[in-house]
Amino acid sequence: MSTALSQRPQLKHLTAALDELRQKGTYFRLRVLEDVQAPVCTYDGRKVINLASNNYLGLCDHPKLREAAIEATRKYGVGSGAVRTIAGTMKVHMELEEKIARFKNVEACVVFQSGFTANAGTVSSILGKEDFIISDELNHASIIDGARLSRAKIKVFRHRDVDHAEELLQEVAHEPGRKLIITDGVFSMDGDIGPVDKLCDLAEKYGAIMMVDDAHASGVLGRNGRGSVDHFHCHGRVDVQVGTLSKAIGALGGYVCGSRDLIDYLYHRARPFLFSTSHPPAVAATCIAAFDLLESEPERMERLWDNTRYFKAELGRIGFDIGGKTTPASETPITPIIIGDGKKTMEFSRALFDAGVMATGIAFPTVPEGKARIRTIMTSEHTRQHLDQALETLEKTARRLGILS
Ligand SMILES: *Cc1c(COP(=O)(O)O)cnc(C)c1O
Repeated sequence: MSTALSQRPQLKHLTAALDELRQKGTYFRLRVLEDVQAPVCTYDGRKVINLASNNYLGLCDHPKLREAAIEATRKYGVGSGAVRTIAGTMKVHMELEEKIARFKNVEACVVFQSGFTANAGTVSSILGKEDFIISDELNHASIIDGARLSRAKIKVFRHRDVDHAEELLQEVAHEPGRKLIITDGVFSMDGDIGPVDKLCDLAEKYGAIMMVDDAHASGVLGRNGRGSVDHFHCHGRVDVQVGTLSKAIGALGGYVCGSRDLIDYLYHRARPFLFSTSHPPAVAATCIAAFDLLESEPERMERLWDNTRYFKAELGRIGFDIGGKTTPASETPITPIIIGDGKKTMEFSRALFDAGVMATGIAFPTVPEGKARIRTIMTSEHTRQHLDQALETLEKTARRLGILS
């Protein structure tokens, strides 16, 4: 019966939209991982060097995390059975929240099912339609969705442009609504760092709420991966800190850190918290073990940054545009290779894959038209040999396709 639905006219507009993507050359299929998320792994039957994951510290398959997940499953089963506010708050959920709060040096923490729901659920519940959101133009989609759901008025400032943010704040300074300044700690497509310290100054000058989304900074920036607030020494100046458990932490989830009342309020009002079931105990236990590792194995972060410096320097030496000319300069393990044309970028990504390197092509609408790129991400677990082999493949393939002359 599965073919019958495709004969119906109801969703024909979706087929047309997909045909348009095919024509533009930006249609994609999902690549399927057949083994473990690791520096070398198998997608679609091909062994590749993986430059595409957010597994910054190699925790996705860390033996201690596997053990924690198995142990929690044995003890507590596979599901929590309810949303947190009804009957689905397990001891292990509370332990994780307390652990993160201590790690981040804040009063309290709430864990959501994902970083996406943490952002969307928080922004939408702490503001209303009389309020204003002052938001960086490259902020993550989950912030934008949360902002829309809040029905607050959204004022977008040019990327990392603190003066522009101030202009926007001045425009609404006499309006009665609350103001929220929000930035990503690390921007996911360019790898540059948000001006958290300067935005904190602005927030204090104008009495605005300060919020940072540290999805790509968690486990990557700051002491033992405490994030951008720690990196900029802004403790006590950021009202709402969002982080993810899905990237460097290696499992799944998102969290919000802040005052006891912020967290209590989110327990009562954040819709993904209220209306969606909590994590399986294995996920919470895994994350607890991961935060232990951030403190007991700091050498992972050192290796991550060593690899980052080496890989960036080599990409630049080969002659790739790795940002800093027409796009922001990366300062983190995310390094874009700017190609420009979307179709060419997707062709490059496919050719790299065939040659044994997994690096995602990213085009409009995820990045601006004409700024399509291959995004590379380092992890602590890539060896020098992996990196040299990837660099050689990148260079050879780029020359063959006329991307490098
Ligand atoms: C990945 C990401 C998120 C979403 O986090 P998940 O835990 O994967 O849902 C939110 N914000 C930014 C900036 C991200 O890069």
